[in-house]
Amino acid sequence: MELQHQHIEQLRAMLAERPQRIVIVSHTNPDGDAVGSSLAWAAALRTMGHTVHCIVPNRYPYFLNWMPGIKELTIFKDTPEEALHLVEEAELIFCLDFNDLSRLEILTDTLTKNTSARRILIDHHLSPAEGYDLYFSHPDSSSTCFLVYSLIEALFGVEQITREMAEALYVGMMTDTGNFAFSFLTPELFRAVAMLIERGIVIPEIHNRVYNSYTAGRARLFGFAINRKMELIHNGRVAYMSLTEQEMRRFGFQQGDSEGFVNYPLTIKKVKMSVMFLEHTNFIRVSLRSRGQVDVNLFARKYFNGGGHKNAAGGKSFVSMEETIAHYIRAVEEFAAEGYL
Ligand code: 5GP
Ligand code: MN
Repeated sequence: MELQHQHIEQLRAMLAERPQRIVIVSHTNPDGDAVGSSLAWAAALRTMGHTVHCIVPNRYPYFLNWMPGIKELTIFKDTPEEALHLVEEAELIFCLDFNDLSRLEILTDTLTKNTSARRILIDHHLSPAEGYDLYFSHPDSSSTCFLVYSLIEALFGVEQITREMAEALYVGMMTDTGNFAFSFLTPELFRAVAMLIERGIVIPEIHNRVYNSYTAGRARLFGFAINRKMELIHNGRVAYMSLTEQEMRRFGFQQGDSEGFVNYPLTIKKVKMSVMFLEHTNFIRVSLRSRGQVDVNLFARKYFNGGGHKNAAGGKSFVSMEETIAHYIRAVEEFAAEGYL
């Protein structure tokens, strides 16, 4: 991952003009990377005198509640008028941690109401949409937080990173790499982590707050999902799980409780691809994970109108759970027949 000097200078020029009204938006079901990159980037821009607001479509998971500044996020679902006002007033809009406006779901229309603001993409997903004034699109970056770290380093120098910013950046680096176990674990990333330690983060503390802060209901739901709902197909090489709204209610489900479930079947030696189907009121959210060369970004695009990264992707289904699972099983057979599995 290398930032282009020319793009850095373009961004520097845009930000140097005068104090501006800036909005940072991130994706639906904001995760540690979405929230962490938004908070850190907002803090960095504020040091230049800009007025900055962060907007997310819906609530973040409760295990991120402790993050410094998180209460200042504008949640579109809770306060749509405020979000609309901020977007309309914005002179500069940063889009963080998503590749296409459709990923904003209920916030998409609001964002298209402002046609005059300049737009800048800072993201690490494949296939960025067209129409931005400036791109920092780096699918070879392990997280958007690492991208934001690199931008701050290039524009302002790492001395500008406060402990709060460092904590926010570390959350995204840690969660998007599965605690430093997935792809793109470069020397530069670990140098950045070393620098964040110098800026004051305490890694075990952050780890505990993010990964060891769940409810008992969540632990029991996890046991239920693995024990009762995990199915293995394709000679044990492909796994799937599903949870209905009723099942989630039984365990006192809160947003974020299913985080990480889909990864677990990949701890089985033979399993190369895992999927989780989560029932929502009007659709089923599809979460996909894979190992090695199995490309779930391609699978999600082909069969679930979604996308993401090679080893972590998602999409949606608008038919019943039974039909969704039947569609999935057929899709796995076709995918395998075409040599992708
Ligand atoms: P998760 O399973 O954690 O929700 O998502 C995994 C990855 O897939 C994330 O990088 C996310 O951006 C991407 N993703 C999830 N849902 C969708 C979707 O509906 N459309 C697209 N294009 N990408 C998605
Ligand atoms: Mn991310």
